[in-house]
Amino acid sequence: MPFSFDNTYARLPERFYAQLPPEPVVQPRLVRLNEVLARQLGLDPDALRSPDGVAVLGGNRVPEGAEPLAMAYAGHQFGGFVPQLGDGRAILLGEILTPGGDRFDIHLKGSGRTPFSRGGDGRAWLGPVLREFIISEAMHAFAIPTTRSLAAVATGEPVFRETTLPGAVLTRVARSHVRVGTFEYFRARGDTDGLKQLADYVIGRHYPEASQSDQPYRTLLAAVAERQAELVAQWLGVGFIHGVMNTDNMSITGETIDYGPCAFMDDFHPDRVYSSIDRHGRYAYSNQPPIAQWNLARLAECLLPLLHADADKALEAAEQIVIDFARHYEKAYLRRFRAKLGLREACAEDAGLIDSSLQAMAQARADFTNTFRALCDAAEGNCEPVRAQWGESEPCEAWLAQWRERLAVEAATPQERVAAMRRVNPYVIPRNHRVEAALSAAVAGDLEPLDRLLQALADPWTECSANADFTRSPEPHEVVQKTFCGT
Ligand code: AMP
Ligand code: MG
Repeated sequence: MPFSFDNTYARLPERFYAQLPPEPVVQPRLVRLNEVLARQLGLDPDALRSPDGVAVLGGNRVPEGAEPLAMAYAGHQFGGFVPQLGDGRAILLGEILTPGGDRFDIHLKGSGRTPFSRGGDGRAWLGPVLREFIISEAMHAFAIPTTRSLAAVATGEPVFRETTLPGAVLTRVARSHVRVGTFEYFRARGDTDGLKQLADYVIGRHYPEASQSDQPYRTLLAAVAERQAELVAQWLGVGFIHGVMNTDNMSITGETIDYGPCAFMDDFHPDRVYSSIDRHGRYAYSNQPPIAQWNLARLAECLLPLLHADADKALEAAEQIVIDFARHYEKAYLRRFRAKLGLREACAEDAGLIDSSLQAMAQARADFTNTFRALCDAAEGNCEPVRAQWGESEPCEAWLAQWRERLAVEAATPQERVAAMRRVNPYVIPRNHRVEAALSAAVAGDLEPLDRLLQALADPWTECSANADFTRSPEPHEVVQKTFCGT
């Protein structure tokens, strides 16, 4: 197998993980391979498709150079602390270096029981595996930092949930799988030495600039805060709701990770929740920024002993960084939404303009994605699509007039402006009803709808008639009200 492993995580102390191979499956069968990603990683797609390759992707064969392990971590789940979670159904095979010198984890999800499985069976089933495949690849196409999906392999084994379902393994690729919850694992054990080794590891691998600083751990925390702020602003910009922003699902790298009951909104509402397990809306659309800040505060708590020998000074430094998150977030959010509205420069009134557009959308139950796309048309002079979204109301006309006035302040030509808007406002998103339809067909053995959806999402920006049906918001009977984590 053509993996060039170089496993730095496996060189960390033994208490960071449990070493074990994936559990073999009865009959691994490749359902989908991400050839583009394989090539970017410097892997040979044909080798991955071969029986040996599929044996690796299904967990039946440990490739040369891999040092398989399950990572230890803890986490706050819906606000409650669980001192031990860990990879209960996943195995890190190792890290590879791409031809460009980038380092990525190769990780199998659904690969059997580990010492962290608690009551679980260690498995995943095909629906959620393909769901993660679709949505993570869409995120990547939106240029939003994310883990990626290299392959989905059916195991030939049943998985028992409410019903019997076809088992599957996802090969996930990530800059790393270190989470906020990884730090919490060591804090919960009072293991300051482990915390320091983890922090040094993360600095070396993901934030090398922090090692140049005279306050490396402060710089690390501040850099994580900035990346998280940027990430959540990007999620809001595409109407994404992660659904389970537990601290064990917050990557230290600022990548979107752990696609469970996540969803893209159709009609806009700031309180929108899809996840069946998020009963109190903790992870609702507009709650994501404060939750990211809350999660950052949990990370800050972990780093306290490293921030300063004096506990008060450490706390002061940590608090400042957590407070500053809000400023970074606000900046990132305004930058995103200004761009969505076709604005290049910053004006004090922009926050109000953005707000009122979202209020109008919520009031009209307008489709988030299609409204912003309609505004691209409006920037070219055709206001009919926006009126179709918002209705021909007084507030709508007033907003459009205000927006036009604001646009006129800038020097960009309409052509430049519209081209830029169409690069930040997607034409195609993985709409819930289309995702569900593609998954049902795939589970029944028909991969065509999945392939069509993946193909459309590979270039989500360009308007084309072949993809027009993916832009249609759901009919009332098609609306997906709830999404499930499917574990
Ligand atoms: P998640 O909700 O996917 O973020 O998972 C939370 C925790 O539950 C992690 O420690 C997972 O490894 C574990 N987990 C989820 N599903 C299973 C399963 N089927 N078997 C064992 N552990 C699981
Ligand atoms: Mg998780």
